[in-house]
Amino acid sequence: MELEEGDRVKVEKTGVEYEGIVMPSTTGRIIIKMDSGYNAGIDKEGATVTVVQKKKDMMLSPKAAEKDEIEPRKGLPKISILSTGGTIASKIDYRTGAVTSQFSADDILRAIPELMDIANFSGRVVYNILSENMKADYWKTLAKAVVEEIKNGADGIIVAHGTDTMMYSAAALSFMIDTPVPIVFVGSQRSADRPSSDNAVNAICAAKVAVSDIAEVSVVMHSDTSDEKCSIHRATKVRKMHTSRRDAFRSVNSEPVGYVDYTNGKIFTSLPYVKRDEKELALNDSLEPRCALVKFTPGADPAILGYFIDAGYKGIVIEGTGLGHVSTDWVPQIERATSKEIPVMVTSQCLYGRICDRVYDTGRDMLKAGAVEGEDMLPEVALVKMMWVLGQSEDYSTAVNMLKENFKSEINERSLF
Ligand code: GLU
Repeated sequence: MELEEGDRVKVEKTGVEYEGIVMPSTTGRIIIKMDSGYNAGIDKEGATVTVVQKKKDMMLSPKAAEKDEIEPRKGLPKISILSTGGTIASKIDYRTGAVTSQFSADDILRAIPELMDIANFSGRVVYNILSENMKADYWKTLAKAVVEEIKNGADGIIVAHGTDTMMYSAAALSFMIDTPVPIVFVGSQRSADRPSSDNAVNAICAAKVAVSDIAEVSVVMHSDTSDEKCSIHRATKVRKMHTSRRDAFRSVNSEPVGYVDYTNGKIFTSLPYVKRDEKELALNDSLEPRCALVKFTPGADPAILGYFIDAGYKGIVIEGTGLGHVSTDWVPQIERATSKEIPVMVTSQCLYGRICDRVYDTGRDMLKAGAVEGEDMLPEVALVKMMWVLGQSEDYSTAVNMLKENFKSEINERSLF
């Protein structure tokens, strides 16, 4: 069995047995943190390793998923914070190098007491992972947990999430849930122990949005490098655009829905949005995870696309060049996919702007081969939409029509940007 960081293992070597949690290792040796707190580094050669408990099973243990109720204050709305991990839910113990979670609602309120004036909070740990470890199945668990919290009376939801893949998860929940209350994703680029942390400002702004009447899935993060405002990005139009800046998140092909002025707590909106209680709560959480996002590069071998067709993928999104192109020698592979009823949708690596495959020969050939234009959708949103659409319908022409339909403002009718 593949060892993963965080797994609990027993390692036996030359008659000595060690038990502990697998730590990151750059040397190829197995590093484990033992219950005593000491680390042991063991050469793999001649060692027998047994997994006692996989990390993912620990994360999903009933204990970890227990609710953490907070003493309510009269007259305030209820926010449920669902934690999935990432920097916002962690602090680093520099002595051990270990990342520890800070995920109970109590911990968060103790760290950011201003939150207590905004709402009553309850906390729930859904996962405790770095968001690069997210996958479609986890989005489903998260969506179910969000819906349960709304059914249990939450007036707003905050999802604490690692920033790396936050836009995928936010888009997934946006497609899966029709929500009568705000569902707000928040993260932080810098952990709470750093003076430049964006943790508190982002969390407070997220709470403001969670009690507002913006009943959509949004991502609330720093607007700029000051601590003065956070943008409210629509989940289907947002992207992480910088590795480390606090204002890494940008709306693409759209304005943000609005922003929160941190200095006075007021919300300003610039786009129409779905209002609180306008929609009835609904969960459509079937997804087809066997979908691929393939980036075309000059001279790329068409066999790359062929691989996904032959490996049993059910839908393919291409990140093409410019208006949405691939080289002529990729077109037969597109045709092969669509003739097997594998939808192929084209997006652009330009990110900004709209697909138009009717201008150049290559684009026209792609359309003839059955490719669908992904309009002004971000490639990753198109991928999540492909997974969701194929989860909703197995019928090829229904799926193709759904790919073209606008469900959660992922497509602008006209390009304004
Ligand atoms: N890479 C991690 C994640 O996305 C940590 C970064 C962060 O939380 O911003 O979960």
